[in-house]
Amino acid sequence: MLIDTHCHIHDKGCYDLPPDEVLAHMHENGVEKCIVIGTDPTDSKNACLFASEHSEVWWTYGYHPNDFDGDKIKLEKDLIAAKEILHDKRLVAIGEIGLDYHFDGYNKDFQIYLLENMLQLAQDLKLPVSFHIRDAFTDFWPIFDNFHLVPSVLHSFSDNEQHLQEGLKRGLYTGVNGLSTFAQIPHAPLDRTILETDAPFLTPKPFRGTINKPGYVKNIAEWAAEYYGVTVAEVARVTTATAEQLFKI
Ligand SMILES: [Zn+2]
Repeated sequence: MLIDTHCHIHDKGCYDLPPDEVLAHMHENGVEKCIVIGTDPTDSKNACLFASEHSEVWWTYGYHPNDFDGDKIKLEKDLIAAKEILHDKRLVAIGEIGLDYHFDGYNKDFQIYLLENMLQLAQDLKLPVSFHIRDAFTDFWPIFDNFHLVPSVLHSFSDNEQHLQEGLKRGLYTGVNGLSTFAQIPHAPLDRTILETDAPFLTPKPFRGTINKPGYVKNIAEWAAEYYGVTVAEVARVTTATAEQLFKI
């Protein structure tokens, strides 16, 4: 049994395929659970609703670093408004949250302010975090070190070996997705890895050029089996056990 620990199939704005077909395809491929990821307060609410309608789906409350416009009062209001759904029993993590300096026009101060607020929330709720960190690890580590979090995940880790080691040293896990099937990136040991798709993005080989689906975790598991030199069953056993333990699903 496999798990997709990070996808966006609940998001009607960015995901075009019919949910029932996508979930049927998921089960056909031996992927029995998935976690839909919130990227802002409204999207997180939609994730919550989607999870309440599908027994194989859990959700996260997140706020993507690129989606915050610096309105601190609105953020405060959003977090107060979220209180109701933050006690939902299918909520399994805070994220995706983090820092993203990849594209021009980002605002460091806004991103750091948002991240610190969200980390406080994760710490208070004792929930793991799904981190989105892109080209920003140097700023990230000192912030991370100020909080006491339960074991968490660097979603779609694709930075260098040094930052991988920094993460492992801090007890973090890495989320491996389709990127690994077509890009050269460093990888954590199998027992510090969980599988994800980030659907609709980062479609693995051999489906490049089509919309990604949670069922394609099977292809990522096949890639991992080859990379780690173990069977697909072993990849499934190890990564599923880790995901179930981290997210309590
Ligand atoms: Zn994502």
